[in-house]
Amino acid sequence: MNDVIIVGGGPAGASLGCYLSMYGIKSTILESSNHPRPQVGESMVTSSTRVFKEIGFLPVLERERFVHKYGASWHPPSGKEFAIEFAEFPQEGIDQDYTYHVDRSKLDLLMLKHAEHKGAKVYQGVHVKQVLFEDGKAVGVQAQFGEKTIDLHSTGDFSEAFLMPYEARLPGGVSIWYEFIRLYYKLLPLFTHFIQSKTHRLEVLRLLQGEVYDRKDVPVLDAMRNYIATVEKSDSHLLKSRLTSITID
Ligand SMILES: Cc1cc2nc3c(=O)[nH]c(=O)nc-3n(C[C@H](O)[C@H](O)[C@H](O)COP(=O)(O)OP(=O)(O)OC[C@H]3O[C@@H](n4cnc5c(N)ncnc54)[C@H](O)[C@@H]3O)c2cc1C
Repeated sequence: MNDVIIVGGGPAGASLGCYLSMYGIKSTILESSNHPRPQVGESMVTSSTRVFKEIGFLPVLERERFVHKYGASWHPPSGKEFAIEFAEFPQEGIDQDYTYHVDRSKLDLLMLKHAEHKGAKVYQGVHVKQVLFEDGKAVGVQAQFGEKTIDLHSTGDFSEAFLMPYEARLPGGVSIWYEFIRLYYKLLPLFTHFIQSKTHRLEVLRLLQGEVYDRKDVPVLDAMRNYIATVEKSDSHLLKSRLTSITID
């Protein structure tokens, strides 16, 4: 019997397996494909460094010589460069001023191996067909192991009440990131304007570093929205032609 069944052995599933093992909780990771599998990307944000540090994965990233990434720069057609360095806004609990560019196929395989090394059981080529519920609680999964369909049960508490603190924090952070990225792509020159703003530069940095969980911490999002609304309303605005068709909400 498992305490926890994790569906998917991407970075999230592998990290969760590591954390659970660190707290003495038994987990089984079920992954549809067989790693290394093709995966797009990618360029990490610094908030992932804390996770890598906590699960003891930073030495693997260094050993494998993934390329260090110290910041980012933008090169609009005007020829002017806009750059940020992660060192400008040090993040609590992170004591290196860079993150990584990674080959995801390789990274995901290494992370899954790391989770296994820390104690998670890993099954690849196993597709989860459905989550099994009893009395409103997830109690297991039905998964395809080769020709066989098998029900696996878990003993952990996966009630709504137990998961609520997680529901409040992490999806909140994701929705802030999602809003930021849509505003960013709606009007790209706007971003270069805000990255130079004394008032908002640090907020933009925090957003780029991927670690904002309370929307009140980033009034720049409303400032970006207001600016876009102004451009949308005016036919003669210089940036009108730069608006993209992406929807903001
Ligand atoms: C085009 C693109 C570019 C991106 N670029 C960047 C970037 O530059 N930087 C960045 O930080 N992020 C980037 N991202 C986002 C990043 O890829 C995701 O945030 C990250 O992959 C999420 O990790 P995950 O483990 O949650 O999911 P995934 O990496 O998607 O892993 C989920 C795993 O679950 C498995 N799975 C799915 N369903 C089942 C099932 N029913 N049963 C068993 N296994 C299952 C899948 O095979 C997969 O291996 C990009 C995303 C896209 C699409």
